Amino acid sequence: MFKNFSEAQAYIVEHHIHQIDLKFCDLWGGWRHVTITAREFTPDLLTHGVGFDGSSVGFKNVRAGDMVLIPDLTTGFRDPFWEQPTLSFICNVHEADTREPFARDPREIARRAESYLRQTGIADQSVWGPEFEFYIFSNVEYENAINVSSYRVESIESAWKSSTGGHGHYIALHRGYHAIPPNDQLFNLRARMVNHLEELGLPVKYHHHEVGGPGQCEIEIPLMGLLSAADATLLIKYVTKMTAWREGLSVTFLPKPLFGEAGNGMHFHQFLKRNGKNVFYDPNAPDHLSQEARFYIGGLLYHAPALLAFTNPTTNSYRRLVPGFEAPVNCFFSSGNRSAAIRLPKYATEPETFRFEFRPPDATCNPYLAMAAMLMAGIDGIHHHIDPSEHHFGPIDEDIFSWSPEKRKTIKSLPTSLGEALKALQADHEFLLQGGVFTIDLIEDWIRKKFDEENQVRLRPHPYEIELYYNL
Ligand code: GLU
Ligand code: MG
Ligand code: MG
Repeated sequence: MFKNFSEAQAYIVEHHIHQIDLKFCDLWGGWRHVTITAREFTPDLLTHGVGFDGSSVGFKNVRAGDMVLIPDLTTGFRDPFWEQPTLSFICNVHEADTREPFARDPREIARRAESYLRQTGIADQSVWGPEFEFYIFSNVEYENAINVSSYRVESIESAWKSSTGGHGHYIALHRGYHAIPPNDQLFNLRARMVNHLEELGLPVKYHHHEVGGPGQCEIEIPLMGLLSAADATLLIKYVTKMTAWREGLSVTFLPKPLFGEAGNGMHFHQFLKRNGKNVFYDPNAPDHLSQEARFYIGGLLYHAPALLAFTNPTTNSYRRLVPGFEAPVNCFFSSGNRSAAIRLPKYATEPETFRFEFRPPDATCNPYLAMAAMLMAGIDGIHHHIDPSEHHFGPIDEDIFSWSPEKRKTIKSLPTSLGEALKALQADHEFLLQGGVFTIDLIEDWIRKKFDEENQVRLRPHPYEIELYYNL
């Protein structure tokens, strides 16, 4: 939004801004914030920053936690949810003593991935289009979702029926795709979310009700660069949650909030650009996929098990990656099949924006780390000439679930648990270390922290266990 300090300062004076909110991304991929008064917004802020404790946000240990936040002026936006006029900035994280960029700041890792891409000469920019799926629950539905019967979709459906006032118009299970009002009772709320996003500078491509009967929605944004797409992801989560929360509703991006209903994915459309040209497009090749695109796809699928430790980093992520819900379960690419890990959408055939989508990821990822990791896997595929056809990665357009079990075994599966993905990352992470993009200490720390999360879930009795075994 602003090119320099004086532009920002002029805006603050002109719009009577009271509060400056400094937001930054923690290790797990969520925003945190600290607020200063407009009086504290001085040129000094851009060199010295505002101190915080990095040990409480997953960055450092308690003994050496001091870090500073320095706002990125280009990210400034008028925050619509504050009572006082407030200007928000997304910040970069720096070391408190040297003021050097902090090596584990997710935004810094995203920048290193882009600069590594340029160094390789393969392309000068990566372009991304994340898709956002989420559920909106009312308090009643939310309580149903978190109480012991969370695995019963029926209870959510009945809450949905009563919360929409009945009248015979509600969305039945699995029947929500592009539903129209009065069944789609969330259109006004989504429109308000989209309005906020557009007003603060993020254009929206479209929004609609998704397949999941009880309140699943989707918002899509235009294609953009890696850092902007990751910033936009956190902005969208903030705006959707805040808009709903103001109306007593709750938004969740949890990959599988309801047993037996569609999960929330965050598919990533992606391609590379060199000298303004789409590196992935070749008008004369099968499916128009250039040799680089094929190798990039090979890299994503070859490294997929390890990659998922960053793109699908929660225990809940793997409850979504099951057959029957348009979520991917196998490592292959296809021009139509939604159970494929990579799909070439038929509507994305223009040479300038020709692309594919990587479908496994979900929004519990840290978008900076997830996109950096995908890019690194793709680059590795290009460097090592990983040809999809040599690994049974497709293209496959048939329904592989109609194949015999023997034939299906030839196709590699995606991990079925967080632990499996973490073990894959333990064994396969060289591709992430190239060009110093990821550091080994970050990867080891990530694995340790995520194994601990998995263990914490494993230690807790599950509601369905009670149903199965209580009376034994
Ligand atoms: N909700 C599905 C998923 O979990 C995707 C549906 C779609 O293709 O848009 O990935
Ligand atoms: Mg969708
Ligand atoms: Mg999609």
